[in-house]
Amino acid sequence: MPFLRRLRHRHDHRSTAPRDVAIDQRGIPTHACLVCGCNVFLVHAIFDDYDIAGWYVDAECSCCGSPLTAPCPADDPLGHR
Ligand SMILES: [Zn+2]
Repeated sequence: MPFLRRLRHRHDHRSTAPRDVAIDQRGIPTHACLVCGCNVFLVHAIFDDYDIAGWYVDAECSCCGSPLTAPCPADDPLGHR
């Protein structure tokens, strides 16, 4: 499962400081936010047997709040899956 990959999450959720400027990045699936480089997204996910079984691609950057499109296997241009 890819969750062991290095996280590039820099936002301190305990901070009350304003986030970076959010930019609408929806439409092109991405693995990292174009504004801040963060690769932790907020998504709606479905769990089954203690693992992620599916997710909605409408996402939000966890660091700056930019709306974006999360990737899914069907988006892989090399068709690895
Ligand atoms: Zn961001």
